Parts: sequence; C-alpha cells; structure tokens
Amino acid sequence: MAGTASSGGGFRAGAGDEAGNDVDGLAHEGAARATSGATATTDGGDTGDGGTGSGTPGSVVPDDGPIDPRLLPDTAVIGPDGSLSIGGVDLLELADTFGTPLFVYDEEHLRARCRQAVAAWGDGVAYATKAFLCRAMARLAYEEGMCLDVSTGGELHVALAAAVPAERLVLHGNNKSEAELARALEVGVGRIVVDSFDELDRLERLTAAGGGAGGTRRQPVLIRVTPGVEAHTHEFVRTGQEDSKFGFGLASGAAAEAVRRVQAMPGVVLTGIHAHIGSQVFRVESFAQAVEVLAPFFVPLGLGELVVGGGLGVAYVAGERAPSLAEWAQTVRAACRRSGIPGDTRVLAEPGRAITAAAAVTLYRVGTVKELPGLRTYVAVDGGMSDNPRPVLYGSGYEAFLPRAVAAPRPRAVRVVGKHCESGDVVVADARVPADLAVGDVLATPVTGAYGYAMASNYNKVPRPAVVFVAGGRARVVVRRETLEDLLHLDA
Ligand code: PLP
Repeated sequence: MAGTASSGGGFRAGAGDEAGNDVDGLAHEGAARATSGATATTDGGDTGDGGTGSGTPGSVVPDDGPIDPRLLPDTAVIGPDGSLSIGGVDLLELADTFGTPLFVYDEEHLRARCRQAVAAWGDGVAYATKAFLCRAMARLAYEEGMCLDVSTGGELHVALAAAVPAERLVLHGNNKSEAELARALEVGVGRIVVDSFDELDRLERLTAAGGGAGGTRRQPVLIRVTPGVEAHTHEFVRTGQEDSKFGFGLASGAAAEAVRRVQAMPGVVLTGIHAHIGSQVFRVESFAQAVEVLAPFFVPLGLGELVVGGGLGVAYVAGERAPSLAEWAQTVRAACRRSGIPGDTRVLAEPGRAITAAAAVTLYRVGTVKELPGLRTYVAVDGGMSDNPRPVLYGSGYEAFLPRAVAAPRPRAVRVVGKHCESGDVVVADARVPADLAVGDVLATPVTGAYGYAMASNYNKVPRPAVVFVAGGRARVVVRRETLEDLLHLDA
C-alpha cells in the first residue's frame, strides 16, 4: 500500500542511541525511507536506534497515499465511515473518553507477539521491559509465557508488584547497586546477567553472607560479553574493539577471567553467556554472525544457555520491512548449528521493541495549524517530546494519520510538533496528512508502543498521558493520566 514519501528533504533518519536503553556503543544505520533526498545515514552515536531503520533503499512510494495498514496494530479495522477502531473500540471515542495525548495498546497484538516469541525461542525467552512497562504489561507478558528482563531495581519492583514470580525474572544492568543485587537475591530472580568485576565483588560479598533466597540457593548467573562486533541496521561489522560500558570483552580476555571468577564463587552457578549486539537491527544475519564470533568462546565452556540479547528491528514508516520473531530465531538457530553449538543448548533472546512497538498508537489533539507560505506548515499537538522523545533524541521517523479518515489520501506535507518550549520538539518531521486537517482533529502516530511512554518525562510540567489497553470492544486504563496534583507530589 502507499506510503509517505517526504516531499521536501529534511527527513531525518538514523541517529543516536536509544538512550538509557542499553545499546552497547554501536552505531546504526538509519534511513531508507523513500524520501526525496533522504539517504541512509549512520548515526554517530551508540547503537540504539535510527528509528527509520531499513526499508527498501531507493524504492519510490507515492507521496499522498493513506497510511500503510501494516503500520497499524493487528486488530485495526477501518469502519464504513472511514474511521479507525482498534480492539473493537473507535479511536475518536477513546480520545473523547480518556483525553489526549493517549497511548492506545492493542492487547491482542501484544499477546500475539508474546506467543510468537515463545513459539520461536521456547521457554525462557524474555520480554525486555525497558521498552514499555507497567503492571498490566508485566502481567500480560508473564501470562503469555515470557520471562521478563528487568534492567534496574525499579523495573524489578514493577514486575514483582505485578506478581510475576521472581524465578521468571532476569536482572540486567551495567551498574547494579548493592541494594538492587541484594533484592534480586532475596526474592530469588531466575537469572542475573553479570556485567562487571565490581558487580562480581558485590555478588561475592552478598552471597557469602547468605544473600540468596533462603540462604542456601546458588544464584544462577550469565556473563555478559562484548563480542567486539557491531550490528548496524543493514550490516554487521567485526571491529574487534570493545569500547563499551557493557559487559566483559572477549578479545581482552576479560570474559574468560569473569568465567573463572564466577566458577570459583560458591554462592552462584554459571548457566550461560549473554551478548547484545544492538537495537533496531533489521538484518537477522547480524545475529548469526555474532553467534559465529561467540561460538569459539562459548562451546568449550560446556554451558547450557546462550542469550543473543534483544534488538530485532521494527518498521516505523512505509517502505520498511522488519523480519519476524520466527525468522530471527530460525536464523540464529541455524548459525548455532553451523558454529558447533550443541543442539541441547537453550538459545534464547530478549526482545522489547518487537513485542510492543507496533501494538500502540498515540492519539493527540491538534491545537494550532501555522502556515508559513513557501516554508512549511506546523501542526502543533498537545504532547510532544515528553511522550515520545525518540524523534528528538535520534531523529527517528514516524508517520501520522487522522483516525477519522484513515483511508483518505494525505496530500498535505506538514511538520507535526509538540507543545514544549523547544524548537526541536518534533513529533513527525515530515508528515503527510489529509488536506482538510483542522484544529480540533485527533491526529495519531502509529508504532509508538516502545520507548515512548517508557522514556516519557514531565518536561515543562506536562502531565504524562494515560495508557489504555483495548480488546474485545472494551478499553481499560492501565496507567492513569497524571494530574496537576501529581506534579507537586515529590516536592518536599
Ligand atoms: N536486552 C538488552 C541487554 C538490551 O540492552 C536491550 C535494549 O537496549 C534489549 C534487550 C531490548 O532491545 P529491543 O527493545 O531493541 O529489542
């Protein structure tokens, strides 16, 4: 279906790191939306996420077609009047009932992706909660058979508050505090992925003091290694360099030293090796190549688990195509076979974005339309960088559409901006919208389910939006909208 090529250059693709989103200092290629003049760019920063990852470089998509339905959640349906419903609920009704901005998650879509992940990888595959977490999301992922990857004490707390059993949790983090480790040991998390020698010192102290659940349990751990490879959106680069804040370097011998240390610690048991090569990765062959790099280290250890991290890319704009969870797993498995990794090894992954990104749309209300003849048109909505910082942080590309007219052509080129006191507060840099877009319209951006609400802020004291899950014709609020009173809550 038609996409949304940008008419006037300036579409920003590629760019930096999914900050706070541990992406291992790897660069990414973005780009390839079929825009006039927009070419693939390589971000100068860490892996993260160009947002506009792959696509078909050079493909031409019409400028003014409607939104590509493949960017919408699974249960999205266009009604006879041209308006969109998700989970059997009309989006305009949702905006009226719950206000805007509003994150709307298709619960069936979320559940389907979790089930697909389990079917692809088997028991032990974890949902990376950094992509989007609240109690309902934690519960949903657990109910659908996933483990949960938590990378801070805060994420651990939310998962436990959702009554996810501790043994289904995997604790990550490059700087886990003593308190975080102590809690993880006390509750008995399923795995701790150790990241540094200082962490090993802390673990040693805590487990020597009988820190494990019940005092006798040996805590299962994995060692996170830095394989010295970069997974770009389109390619895999073996750099041999280990310039990363994460994990133990392979080439330097740090990883081997970490193995020796862990094996000598009575309070822990080494179950496997972990590596995460990047984020928003479109070429699953990159993961296969990482496996080939890891195998000579992994196989002689005789361990039972190999975790290839997260990072599977998703399509944000028309023209992009992301591999499925099944394709990802099959490619990694084939690489394991080729590399001599024993067939009974539990080969696992921890997707975040691929589970939640496409499940959600954000609804905004248009507040102003500013036409600058010969320059551009600014359409300002009632949210912005506080509910989706990815365009500002990484230059990530999104699309926009009007839920009242989903199948309508979008001939008008506009820039959708937020309400924050920053010129850079861009929601969609090069959006195409129907000609009759007007103040008061509800405008939606699709594929906002990952690293949107998760990275939301109160900048300019804008209360954070509500989050609703929709399914079977019903909407339930899973995170309520912040109130003005909430903004005063932490003031001492
Ligand atoms: N696992 C680790 C160790 C990560 O650092 C990340 C993200 O940065 C993920 C999993 C999830 O990545 P994604 O949401 O891109 O799948």
